[in-house]
Parts: sequence; C-alpha cells; structure tokens
Amino acid sequence: MNDYRPPWPDGMKKTKQRLCVYSVLENAPYPLSAMDIFRQIDGSDSSLWLSTVYRILELFVNEGLAIKTTVTGSNTALYELNRSTHRHYAVCLNCRKVIEMINCPMEKFVPKLSDDEFHVLGHKVEMYGYCRDCEKKLSKDR
Ligand SMILES: [Zn+2]
Ligand SMILES: [Zn+2]
Repeated sequence: MNDYRPPWPDGMKKTKQRLCVYSVLENAPYPLSAMDIFRQIDGSDSSLWLSTVYRILELFVNEGLAIKTTVTGSNTALYELNRSTHRHYAVCLNCRKVIEMINCPMEKFVPKLSDDEFHVLGHKVEMYGYCRDCEKKLSKDR
C-alpha cells in the first residue's frame, strides 16, 4: 500500500466525525462500506448515525478525498481513500472479502484504439474467485 494521503481540502471544516471517518479510511487495507465504517467508529462516538457516515462519505467523494466503488456480486458501495495511484482488487465470491492486488495487470496492455478514436484515461480490472479460507471450506463440503 502506498503512503500517499489526499490532503484535506481548504475550506472543509474538520469536524470530529469527519476526522473519524477519514482515519478509518486511512487505516483500512481494503475498501469499506458505510456500515463497516460506522461499526468501526461506533462506541467511540455515540452521537454518530449511519446516515451521517453516508453524508460524510458522499462529501469526501465530491471533494476528491475518497473513491466510491462497487464489486461483483454486491450492490453495496465501497469507499476507499483516494491515494492517487489506482488499485485493483480480487473479490471472494463466498465471503465477499476484498483483497488488494499488488500489481496492475493492465500496465503493459495497449488498447487497440487509435488516438483520435478514443482517449483512454483509466481502466477498471477486478478478479473474482475464492479466498484461501473459503477455498478450504468449500473443498471440504464437496
Ligand atoms: Zn472467502
Ligand atoms: Zn491498473
């Protein structure tokens, strides 16, 4: 994981709750849902509501602090800090665990498009399958 942290935008108030959400995202090794974030903060701040977490996350996305994404097999939006470099994930189809891929499989990929036809700005790649634990469990059940 790289150490880049998106800077706090000028003029955006640093409320306790926003800083809480930011630090959860900062320490997350993979993208989290609003519920995941809410659960991690809950207890340390009893005045925090799930709807507040959603509002803060939407604000972060609009301000470029966070990126919103979804993965195969789930409609739940996941959020991660916008670390400027792009990342890819592998998703477990059984437990929905999301694992970061350490490389970009598209790095040497040259799209067969001529420049005047299409200007490529980025790409999305996602792997899906079973994580080690689920693979073990599932092969036992067979
Ligand atoms: Zn799994
Ligand atoms: Zn890539």
